[in-house]
Amino acid sequence: VISHGVARGAFTCELCELSSPYTFYGQKPPNTRGIVLLEECYGMRDPFNPEKEKFLLLGSKCSVCNKTVCVGTECSLFYTKRFCLPCVREHLDQFPEQIQTELAKKKSPNSRDRWSPEDEL
Ligand SMILES: [Zn+2]
Ligand SMILES: [Zn+2]
Repeated sequence: VISHGVARGAFTCELCELSSPYTFYGQKPPNTRGIVLLEECYGMRDPFNPEKEKFLLLGSKCSVCNKTVCVGTECSLFYTKRFCLPCVREHLDQFPEQIQTELAKKKSPNSRDRWSPEDEL
């Protein structure tokens, strides 16, 4: 339930189908001073935090396949750019060992820790 901030549309992750209204798209969240994000992304005002500068990152576009994906660890990761996990898996040898190891840990298909917009940034 979003009580403030004007939704510009609905963000939907193409992988997990997480859906949420977003209030901005781009690298500069509104009402923030000096915050420039590393990527163009969908975000919304944090409805649970009265501070104006608080916002939630919902997701952005994969730099390889251009799919809209959420920032949940089951769907994408950020390594200099945003990559959806299917693309990471496809080009895994091009990622550093640390990321390969992290991904190897995520093999459990029944993982329940899906990201939700309630999570703090
Ligand atoms: Zn997702
Ligand atoms: Zn991709």
